[in-house]
Amino acid sequence: MTLLELSDVSVHYGRIQAVSGLTLTVNEGEIVTLIGANGAGKSTTMRAISGIRPVSSGSIRFDGEDITKLRADLRVVRGISQAPEGRGIFPGMTILENLDMGAYARKDRKNLEPEIEHVFELFPRLKERKSQMGGTLSGGEQQMLAIGRALMAKPRLLLLDEPSMGLAPQFIQQIFRIITEINKEGTTVLLVEQNAQQALSRAHRAYVLETGEITKTGTGRELLADDSIKEAYLGVG
Ligand code: ATP
Repeated sequence: MTLLELSDVSVHYGRIQAVSGLTLTVNEGEIVTLIGANGAGKSTTMRAISGIRPVSSGSIRFDGEDITKLRADLRVVRGISQAPEGRGIFPGMTILENLDMGAYARKDRKNLEPEIEHVFELFPRLKERKSQMGGTLSGGEQQMLAIGRALMAKPRLLLLDEPSMGLAPQFIQQIFRIITEINKEGTTVLLVEQNAQQALSRAHRAYVLETGEITKTGTGRELLADDSIKEAYLGVG
């Protein structure tokens, strides 16, 4: 079943066109990754899906309904949750308070214990530091917190914008392992990554974005084996 569908989406910043006529789908249960160079329009695409940035043309459908003009907070209620690039956690709040904030859109937020425990199982490091202020966490820990907070909304679609950015190698492995685990538990994932090797090997399908346009799509495995992808994004060839 198609969960997310972007049809001919364009996004502008003033006169700059960041995304041009982009069409993509994410099926329920998939991990789909969007790879591309700096400035290709990956983050802008994510912002259009989460509703932070309006589209200038085209449409976005989620779970069979048109959400092109729906407010960002109402998209969270529908089941779209984003862990933004640059982490965006609340530095003056503790880990626990940050996690609570992630559930703000839920109607059933009286009992958050099970989800908090679930996040702590995925990220034991956060449990050890649950009363520590977000702003004092390391970069890798903040990234874990951002993902954990996004999960607190119990999303159907989790948007991850460069979760491996700035992380030490052992954290990178861990983050990708956890993304696969979250997906196996039933959450659909759309992942933006510069670490194309890891992203393609974890993803069911992938899209390549170049200067605002999709130039290639296929399974993760197909793109990993593609010579032009190897040369441009995998540092081999
Ligand atoms: P990166 O991997 O470097 O984060 P990206 O693929 O996510 O890149 P975007 O951040 O979506 O790319 O940017 C796409 C284009 O839109 C770039 O040319 C960028 O300069 C431009 N852009 C992004 N945000 C703004 C903004 N707030 N105002 C003006 N132009 C912007």
